[in-house]
Order: sequence, then structure tokens, then C-alpha cells
Amino acid sequence: IEFINVTKHYPGRHHVLREVNLRLRKGEMALLTGPSGAGKSTLLKLLLRLEDVSHGTLMVNGIDVSTLRRRHIPAYRRRIGVVFQDHKLLMDRDVFSNVALTLQVGGLSGRQVQSRVRAALEKVGLGNRAQDFPAILSGGEQQRVGIARAIVHTPEILLADEPTGNLDQSLSTEILDLFRDFHHHGTTVLVATHDQSQVNRLGLPVFHLEQGHLHTPGEDNA
Ligand code: ATP
Ligand code: MG
Repeated sequence: IEFINVTKHYPGRHHVLREVNLRLRKGEMALLTGPSGAGKSTLLKLLLRLEDVSHGTLMVNGIDVSTLRRRHIPAYRRRIGVVFQDHKLLMDRDVFSNVALTLQVGGLSGRQVQSRVRAALEKVGLGNRAQDFPAILSGGEQQRVGIARAIVHTPEILLADEPTGNLDQSLSTEILDLFRDFHHHGTTVLVATHDQSQVNRLGLPVFHLEQGHLHTPGEDNA
């Protein structure tokens, strides 16, 4: 992932991101911090092509994201997994169906869907909860269903926007350790978080956004 002098402004608004330079190599993991309104979610939306870069270049896996044609965007997005704070699970579907949903548009056989969903649920420690409905799961378990859904298509990149925002310390630790496991298995991971105690604990590179300016790890804050 490489942001090169990326600037973003929403129509009729001041700049949200200013000349942002960020580089995350394949398989690396980093955290994205900064006060509310600093532009963290915007930066992740640019990566997903949910928003367009205003100026500058955004490269992902050698692809210039701004020049992606509309018909190629769905395939591009399938290479990325996303986890939100509010996991947006479908409460009238069981855990299995929630995770399977993103795969069913991919033209896989029923058996392939079965085995991939089972593998994803195993990875997040919910191998025995496939038939349960989200309502009876704890907050941390629900969030893990959201993570299973994000990784079920084995994305190369995993993005998370405040994935532990609603969770207590021990569940936050559990969720972030899970992201770190994916990183240890070769996935590139970028997590936006407010949680300073997790930032301190994890000891990972931190990109800090402040009024649209990005401070890179190792750079002087002066
Ligand atoms: P938080 O920690 O509260 O989630 P954030 O760092 O994720 O904040 P963003 O959501 O990226 O911040 O928002 C950055 C700025 O851009 C804010 O001032 C916000 O109001 C503005 N903004 C975000 N989305 C839009 C939009 N679609 N149109 C106009 N302005 C927007
Ligand atoms: Mg945000």
C-alpha cells in the first residue's frame, strides 16, 4: 500500500487529508491513530475506492487505485477484507449465513462455501457457533463473526476501522491479537484505533493523523 502525496477533500469542504505519504509493505501491520475527525475513516475509504483521491497517487499491489475502471472495482475490493466497529451482522441469519454471504456472489459451489466458511470460523475461534444467531453471542463474539466475514475470501489486505470501539479491554486485546495472527500469516493489516492502551501494548508501527497531516513511524514529532 502506498499513498504518495495524497490529498482528499469532500465537495465544498476543506482538506481532510493533506499530502499524505504512507507506505505499508506486503505482510506488514500498522495502526492508524488520531483524534476524531482527523481523517482515519476517510483514508480507509480511499483504499476501498469508496471515496476518490482528490490529488496524488494511491497504489495497492501495483494498481493505481484512482485509475481502476468501475467494472474492475468489485474484483479489486475482493482482495481486501474490511472490519467495522459496528459489525453490521444480519440478525435474522445464523453465524454461518452471515459469513457465507460475501462468498455466495463469487460463484463457488455449495461445498466450497461450506469449507471456506468453516475454516474462517475456526480461525476466529467460533468453529462451534455456526448455527447460532448473532443475538445470543457476546459483543466480542459478534465482532469475531465480522472478522470471519472479512477474511472468508482470504484477502491479501485486511483493513479495520475502530474494530474494538465497543469492546472492553480484554476483548479488545483478543481482537487485536487476532489481527496480529493474520499478519503473522502474511496478510497486510491496517487498523484504525483510538485505543491508546492497545497501541502501547502492541508495539506496532503507528501512523498518526492530525488535522489531515500524517506522521510516519520513526519520524520526529517536532
Ligand atoms: P473518528 O475517529 O470520529 O471516526 P475519523 O478520523 O475517522 O474520525 P473521518 O470520518 O475520516 O474522521 O472524517 C474526517 C473529516 O471529514 C471530518 O471532518 C468529517 O466531518 C469529514 N467527512 C467525512 N465524510 C464526509 C463526507 N462524506 N462528506 C463531507 N465531509 C465528510
Ligand atoms: Mg472514523
